[in-house]
Amino acid sequence: MARVSFIGLGIMGSGMVSNLLKSGHQVKIWNRSESKSKELEKLGAEVVSNPALLAEGADYFMYCLADDAAISEVITGGHKMAELIKPGTIVIDLSTIDPKTSNAERAIYESRGIEFLDAPVFGTKGEARDGGLWVVIGGKEDIYKKALEVLNPISETTHYMGDGGSGTKMKLVGNLLVASQIVSIGEALTLAKKAGLDLKKVLEVAAVADFKTPIYAGVGGAVIAGDYEVNFPLRLMLKDSRLIQEFAERLASPATIAAITEDLAKDGVDAGYGELNASAIVKVIAQRAGVDLSE
Ligand code: NAP
Repeated sequence: MARVSFIGLGIMGSGMVSNLLKSGHQVKIWNRSESKSKELEKLGAEVVSNPALLAEGADYFMYCLADDAAISEVITGGHKMAELIKPGTIVIDLSTIDPKTSNAERAIYESRGIEFLDAPVFGTKGEARDGGLWVVIGGKEDIYKKALEVLNPISETTHYMGDGGSGTKMKLVGNLLVASQIVSIGEALTLAKKAGLDLKKVLEVAAVADFKTPIYAGVGGAVIAGDYEVNFPLRLMLKDSRLIQEFAERLASPATIAAITEDLAKDGVDAGYGELNASAIVKVIAQRAGVDLSE
């Protein structure tokens, strides 16, 4: 049993904490919006009123925050948690952020003799709730192996990707694939609708043919049911489309799909869909084409 301090109880972090508690770890939590701590307190988490109170007595300091600005507010600037955490604690950042931000965090921790893993996750609300995330990790391999005691309870798989920063890089590479599939199912369903095809039958074919993916099935099915209940908010997809482009640009690698995703996601956020699921990208595509995909 490990002592875990955890910050960020959003869609993903709250599921992660519930699974850490279920597996017997002792978890102290803080979240900017206090209300999100209540359910986890009932499950046995200790709630603190100030993040600085998480700095002492933790074997692991884990966080799953929205974006680079939140890391700046809570970890590297603002509350300055990176300067408060005690040596001996292993720090694990589960957020999807710019690899540059991840490196800046690592530099602070390393200057203080603190071990740090970048460990962003694939999967969404259901996988976080069920302890079935797919985690990609960068950092020292022996630290990764030790940290499996807290990574296993939240995940179905863990992939050690290499040196510090490799997890964050893999996350952006993976989210490029996610973005491409959401855009392509959106354009495909829109084209099918315009062509007069039965969308349920289109999805039946897409579920068996050699281009099938869980995203085509999940997003496609939800969209034709008119269901945009949030798992992965569109506002975070917009953030990720920008992170992918900046990352790719630094490496002189093409990121045309990320640029298209940004264009669509920005229109969706501007239309007020930011708190809907990222599949609202499909809604934007369909609206541009003047069709309604819900049946
Ligand atoms: P979320 O529900 O929006 O939660 C974000 C968390 O960050 C909340 O705890 C929020 O606090 C906190 N936060 C945001 N800005 C802050 C600030 N300036 N200061 C302090 N705390 C701040 O997001 P999520 O879906 O859990 O995602 C968390 C991370 O995982 C993101 O990097 C996301 O890209 C990544 N991710 C998400 C999914 C998904 O399907 N949802 C999948 C894979 C990876 P409040 O509660 O006070 O707002």
